[in-house]
Formats: sequence, structure tokens, C-alpha cells
Amino acid sequence: MSLVELHQSIASLLASRGEWRQAYEHLRHALDLATAERPPQVPEQFRQEVARLRREHAEAREQSLRDALTASYNRRYLDQRLLEVDDPRGEFAVALVDLDYFKRVNDTFGHLVGDRVLRQVVELLQVGLPEGGFCARYGGEEFVLMLPGLEAAAAWAVAEAARARVEQFSWSSIVRGLRVTISIGVAHESGASGVTTPEQQLRLADGLLYTAKQSGRNSVAYRVGGQVRFSGAAGLRGRRG
Ligand code: GH3
Ligand code: MG
Ligand code: MG
Repeated sequence: MSLVELHQSIASLLASRGEWRQAYEHLRHALDLATAERPPQVPEQFRQEVARLRREHAEAREQSLRDALTASYNRRYLDQRLLEVDDPRGEFAVALVDLDYFKRVNDTFGHLVGDRVLRQVVELLQVGLPEGGFCARYGGEEFVLMLPGLEAAAAWAVAEAARARVEQFSWSSIVRGLRVTISIGVAHESGASGVTTPEQQLRLADGLLYTAKQSGRNSVAYRVGGQVRFSGAAGLRGRRG
């Protein structure tokens, strides 16, 4: 006999004798024990519903931070992450990537091919990012690579590898005659100097991207000790200050 049952039977015995007050005390004990033993049951359906809502909320949040076409992170995500970069000792680089003559790709092969190119470029950009690094779509055919924890030379090497990967991809497997290249500006400031916020870093990268375009495209521009250097196609054509 369980303790609950014991209290119940004592209660009925006492009740049969007309000892109502004591019978009531035993019933109270029985009830307290019963609720302590069996916590209130949450119906299974309710539990599942809550789990489903939690899952959907997480998915919706993730989707709101992704670009619908390329599935890379979007501008909103980038802005959020840029605000978080506040470690003054942290080292990070920002690479701004822009497709070369992309309007021509659309004009020659159509918008759908253009869309496929954007998706493929994102895949190629996402290879070999450092830990904590990410690729975000900055605008139409412009992407930002955030490269934390790398020294200047390593950050430049990541960008140059991405440029080469895009140049060497077999674009003609998508449609005959298709060729795609990208230009990149890489800004790297050790936060220790305290001179640049992430937004300033992005502006520096934008300036370097412009220089890379002017140098003939399919090129990576970066700065070493105040001098602009190029790699890729423009690197072969020589250095400019
Ligand atoms: P540059 O080398 O100077 O960057 O030349 P560009 O032709 O790449 O630059 P421009 O800014 O003239 O053209 C960018 C093109 O990118 C125009 C626009 O239609 C195209 N674009 C932007 N977003 C998308 C997109 O989501 N899908 C497709 N297919 N095209 C896009
Ligand atoms: Mg552009
Ligand atoms: Mg472009």
C-alpha cells in the first residue's frame, strides 16, 4: 500500500467514526503526496506545438539574415556583425568583392545565367575562410568577406586565392563562352592602431576595389606601408603606388 492509499484509508476509517476533522487532515496529506509524486502533465500535442514554434522561429531568424538568391549572409547580418567588432586588440581584414563586367554577362547570356553565376561565385568565395570569417552580399553583385584573426599578408592571400578560384572555374560548363572574373579591395588594419572602425575599414576596401577595377580588373588591390599593390592580372602588369 502506498503512503497516499494509507492516508486515504485512515481518512475513511476516521470518517466512518465521525471524526471529520482528523479524516480531513489525512485526506489533505493524501492529496499533497499525490500531486508531489505526479507533476502536472503537459499534453504531448502541446509539447510538440511549442517545439514546432521554437523551430520555426529559429528558421525565420536565420532566413532573415540570409540573401534569398545566393544564400550567403545579407547586409543586415553584415551590419549586425560589424557592430560587434569592438575588440580593440583584434585584427581583422575586410575584402570587398565585385564581379567584373557583370552587366555584360546578363546582357549576353540572360538574367538567369547571371543569377547562377552569382550563386557559384558565392560558393567559390566561401572556400577557405578563416574561423569566424564569413561572406555577405553587400549589394547586387558585390560581396564582403570579413576575415578576422589574420595578419595582412594572410588576408591578402585569402582574397587572391578567391580571385584565382573564380578565374579558373570552368564557367563554360554553365554556358559556352561564359567567363567570369572578380576584382577585390582588401583593407587590413590592426585594431591596435585604433584608427579604424569596421565601417571605415569597409570604405578603405571600397577605395582599393575601385583601384583594382582601374588597374584592369581580375585583380586584388591592397596596401603595404602606404603603397598600393596588386595581384592577379594587374599584378602581372606591374605595381603602382
Ligand atoms: P564593373 O566591372 O565596373 O563592375 O562592371 P559591371 O558591369 O559589373 O558593373 P555595373 O554596376 O555596370 O553592373 C552591375 C550589374 O549587376 C547590373 C545588374 O543588372 C547586375 N545585377 C545586380 N544584381 C543582380 C542579380 O541579383 N541578378 C543578376 N542576374 N544580375 C544582377
Ligand atoms: Mg558593382
Ligand atoms: Mg561589377
